Amino acid sequence: MSEASSDVMVDVRGLRKSFGAQEVLRGVDLQVRAGEVTVVLGPSGSGKSTLLRSINHLEKLSAGTVSIDGELIGYRRVGNRLHELREREVLRQRARIGFVFQNFNLFPHLTVVENLAEAPVHALGVPLAEARALAEELLARVGLAERADAYPRQLSGGQQQRIAIARALALRPKVLLFDEPTSALDPELVGEVLDVIKDLARAGTTMVVVTHEIGFAREVADTVVFMDAGRVVEQGPPAQVLDAPRHERTRAFLAKVL
Ligand code: ADP
Ligand code: MG
Repeated sequence: MSEASSDVMVDVRGLRKSFGAQEVLRGVDLQVRAGEVTVVLGPSGSGKSTLLRSINHLEKLSAGTVSIDGELIGYRRVGNRLHELREREVLRQRARIGFVFQNFNLFPHLTVVENLAEAPVHALGVPLAEARALAEELLARVGLAERADAYPRQLSGGQQQRIAIARALALRPKVLLFDEPTSALDPELVGEVLDVIKDLARAGTTMVVVTHEIGFAREVADTVVFMDAGRVVEQGPPAQVLDAPRHERTRAFLAKVL
């Protein structure tokens, strides 16, 4: 694959991460092209969350690099050494990397519209009126325009997660990372959240989605990545990885979740 390929939005190379003596990422390479959706599958403990957290530098890397839109994340290169960036610089970079968690993580004391306007105002210095106007627009996009003044506790889990997605979009991110966005939801609420993510995919949003929703992966993913024990075991188009997996570990995993 060409190093210079200009449409690679997320470029993970040789990523290793240890916690103490335990190496949980053992040399991960991952390229996500602009406008594409990558779905990451794998058993519990295989390192999926650590991979996402490393991409936006919520974890320091033990080795390797992460670049987004050509910019090294979390470090700057001096000669052939990497120096960790200051917290302020990391926050600036992270502002352009949307992250949607399993448990929504909305601010409970803020209304929906305040949840959406908070980061643009405080992290990017967007004027409040402009941030609120964008918030209203994004709420309409996730089908919740009429809940602008509600508090998170007044909403269903599915609605809260749609708000969390709108909040991530409010920073106009270059890429959206999702860590099991529907795992905490009652089954009847999963569809409304997946529908919002599907709309984003159709609109050309670059996304990395960790999920066990195989039907979603088949329908939406450009690339499916199967991880096990801190490594990418195989990756490719959904029809290949999901319907004709080459590796026994992929087959064994799919047999359990399908
Ligand atoms: P997954 O999301 O695929 O279930 P994780 O990335 O959460 O996997 O975890 C991979 C491994 O790393 C697990 O063994 C987990 O216990 C370990 N791990 C994750 N975060 C930490 C941490 N902050 N400190 C120590 N070990 C961790
Ligand atoms: Mg996880």
